[in-house]
Order: sequence, then structure tokens, then C-alpha cells
Amino acid sequence: MSEAKYIFVTGGVTSSLGKGIISASIAKLLVARGFSVTTQKLDPYINIDPGTLNPYEHGECFVTEDGAETDLDLGHYERFSNVPTSQANNVTTGVVYQSVITKERKGEFLGETVQVIPHITDEIKSRIKLLASRGDYDFIITEIGGTVGDIESLPFIEAVRQLRWELGRNCVVVHLTLVPYLAAAGELKTKPTQHSVKTLLESGVQPDIIVCRTEKHLSESLRNKIALFCNVSPTSVIECIDAETIYDVPILMRQENLDLEILKKTKMPCDVEPDLTDWEQFIYSLKHPSSQVNIGLVGKYVELKDAYKSINESFIHAGAMNGVSVKVQTFQSEFIDDTNVAGKLGNLDGILVAPGFGERGIEGKIAAIRFAREKNIPFFGICLGMQCAVIEFGRNILGLSGAHSTEFKKDTPFPVIDMMEEQKKISGLGGTMRLGAYPCKLKEDSRVFGIYQEENISERHRHRYEFNNEYLDKYLAAGMIPVGLNEKDNLVEIIELKGHPWFVGVQFHPEYKSTVARPHPLFVSFIKAAKDYAGR
Ligand code: GLN
Repeated sequence: MSEAKYIFVTGGVTSSLGKGIISASIAKLLVARGFSVTTQKLDPYINIDPGTLNPYEHGECFVTEDGAETDLDLGHYERFSNVPTSQANNVTTGVVYQSVITKERKGEFLGETVQVIPHITDEIKSRIKLLASRGDYDFIITEIGGTVGDIESLPFIEAVRQLRWELGRNCVVVHLTLVPYLAAAGELKTKPTQHSVKTLLESGVQPDIIVCRTEKHLSESLRNKIALFCNVSPTSVIECIDAETIYDVPILMRQENLDLEILKKTKMPCDVEPDLTDWEQFIYSLKHPSSQVNIGLVGKYVELKDAYKSINESFIHAGAMNGVSVKVQTFQSEFIDDTNVAGKLGNLDGILVAPGFGERGIEGKIAAIRFAREKNIPFFGICLGMQCAVIEFGRNILGLSGAHSTEFKKDTPFPVIDMMEEQKKISGLGGTMRLGAYPCKLKEDSRVFGIYQEENISERHRHRYEFNNEYLDKYLAAGMIPVGLNEKDNLVEIIELKGHPWFVGVQFHPEYKSTVARPHPLFVSFIKAAKDYAGR
């Protein structure tokens, strides 16, 4: 095994430039050249993980196979590179400090004064290098969260400085900046980039490659100017122009030779051209849909576009597979009830009820599900969405008036969704749910078996509550069929409705496993059903 090469991705000038997409694009291009790659995110905040963060604060919480609750950028890494991430791929300041303080309490520092340098930076470095020991990786890409100059990301930048010194040519720093266009001057401006590189230099880090986010093409002379002021060669100034879709970015980066620059600087072979045939095919399908389907996404965090990131991306993958564009309209479930549901959701070709926590908007979700069930509109319920489908069916078909989840009504007469036994003993919130991949067995005569084309599947979870098996017979008899089971723990993982064109509720999160290379079969089938419904 040759030594792993390290790629650090930093960002300057402003946040939201798309470091996650650039990191994911680098991963994609290197994977397409046959290299093995893993991508990591270092987050400067003090929370241990985003699991306990409100989606309004931090967008979606992405869950890995091994059950880590992580930053949504890990979702981009997986969707682009098709390489699963793990707990070790997301490290926060909180995790770093917790680990150092735990060691201090155990006396592991033998009475030394514990300091940011070297103890915190050593911990950061070991968390970066740990990935190299986890697999036979050619490249470890580490995205540094935040913007250079932020107080809170300084220890991460310092760790990069030290690693650069230790690793020499095995390391490359890619700095993403903004080159704004000033309409009044009619010009692109390089000064913010110069300043941002200077800020990085103050911390002792010279970037090797500068990726310039811009809305207009960079001229030769502008590239030369940036090169001159920032100590890089002109070929290392990479234009990253605003794209129609994030999925264009790997192609644009290929055209700009970002991957080639990285390979040259790390002295890695660059004789094999990246194979982007499937990716290009996907983009072609994405940009040439034959029709449109209208999907309603019913949830309570709909004002924030990142709150349901993986669901939205899964729709994009599934749309391309079906040759349609998926127009997702969001509906705040708090404002839906039986009197207005037809007006709001009546023109949709499919309804997805989203995952979530807490009571707000629950009755609206139930009203939306009733509407989808009664009007034969394709329905997809994910996690809380499935639980609400069970509640709705209990109340309106089984006559279990007041049926509920004990998450929302402790003393409900019909607790059709109840807390899992092992969850009852747990008091802390962080990382304590049923998290990560669990096996699920599908019933052979079910719709989902036809969709997955296999009996044993594995999907990622993030929940505390579950279908209450005491009601199983009643549901079965009335036509809501448990078609996916976790046999070991006897848990209902999937329900289907008999006689409905497409009504599936899943206790897990299929959206975490949809990638460009492997769009999730449930999303693909749901969009196919919506397409059929639209053309009925
Ligand atoms: N709140 C529900 C539970 O804890 C559903 C969670 C979810 O939708 N991810 O079981």
C-alpha cells in the first residue's frame, strides 16, 4: 500500500460557497479515475454532533451506516462518490475537546499543562490520520468547516499547517474563495481572494490550488493576477462558475483540470482519464426530462431548504431515472387540515410525508395522509411519515378514536406507535436513538419486494418509536400490511396498503442511501407511480 495523500479544502471570503460540493466533486473525479477515496468534514462548532441540533440551525442531520449523526455535507460526499462514510468522517470541535478532556481526567497527559497546541491540534491530526488506517485509501479529503479567519476554526487550520509540514508532497491545500462581480464597475474583483489567501498565510498555510467561485468567466489576465498575488501557478487557479445544478460541478472541475492539478502536486499517476460516462448520462437525463411530476413534501421544517436535503436529492436521482423532472412543492403541515387539504394537495401526483420530531404539525400530516389514501394518490411516508400513516389508519379505518403515538400523547387510549423497549431506559438525547443500518426482511408477495428485487435489505434508521405489535392483527385484517420486518427485534419496518396504487410507509430513511450511481429503488418506484398517476 502506498502512502495516502491528503487533500485539505478550506474556504475564504464568505460561507456557503460550496466547499462541500467541491470536496464531493474532487472525490467523484478521483473515484472516476480508479482511486480509493474517503471524504471527511471537520466542523468548528462545540456540539458533539448535529444530532441534537434543530434543523433550522443546521439543516438536515445525515446518518451514516454505522449510525453516526453527521453534517449534511457527508450526504453530498456519498451521493457524488458512492463511497459510504462513517462516524470517523465527521469531527467537531466538541468531539475533539471531549476526547482531550477525557484523556486529561484519566491522567493520560502525566501532569502536563493541556493546551490548544499541541494537545487539541494533536487530537485533530490524529482524527484526520485515523482515516488512513481505516482503509486502503489513496486519498483522504478533509473539508475544514467555516471560513478562514474565524476564531473557532483556527485550531483546525493550525493542524493543517502542521500536517503540511509533516506530510510534504503527500498533501495539497485547495482554497475556495469568491471572485465577486461588481455590476457598477462592470468587473470581477480579485481583492477578496487576495485577502483571504493572506489570512490563510497568517496562519502559515500556503494554498496550492485556488478555486474561485464566480458568476462570470475568469479571463486569462485575471487568473494570472490571482496567481501572482497568491503565490500559485496560473494553472492552479481554477474557475468555479455558478452552475445550473450541483451535479454539473464535477464536470466543470474536470474541464478546469482540478483533478489533474491535484494529481500533479501529489505526484500521483494521471495517465487514466476519469470515466464519467454514467455521470454524464445522468446529467443528460436530468436536463432532458420528457415531462414533469408534481410531488408534495409535507413537513414542518419546509421553510428551510436544507432541512430535507437528502429527500430532495433522492427525488432528483429518481426523476432522472424515470426521465421526468420532479417539481417538489413544500407544505407546512401545521397549516393543513381536513377542510383545506383538497385545495392544497389536490393537484399533486404524489405526496411524501417527511420524517420529524415533536408534535407541531402532526394533525396536518395525518390529514394529508388521509387525503392521499382516500384519493388513491401515490403516498410515501418516511419514519414519522410512516408512523402518521399508522395513526391515520387506526383512527379512520380501525375506529381507534384518539389513536396516537406516545411521543405526542402519553395517555392515548390506543398507542399504535410506542417507544421501543430499549429506548425507555435511556435518558440522554445525543446519539441515543435507534441509529444506522439494520437488516430488514421483505415479504415475497409485497410491492416492496418487487421494487427491491431482493428479500434481505439493509436501511439506515433514526428513531425512538415504532409500530406497536399489539395492533398488528387488526391492521393486517383491514389491509395495512407489514411487509418489511426486523426479525431479530420483531419490529415492523415497512407497511403497505392493499388496494392502493402506491402507499408505502418506511420506518427507516431510504433517502440517506440514494446516490447518483445508485438511485434508491423506493424513490424510483414512487416517482414512477407519480408519473403513471399524472398520465392517468
Ligand atoms: N419522532 C419519531 C421517532 O422518534 C420519528 C423520527 C423520524 O422521523 N426520524 O420515532
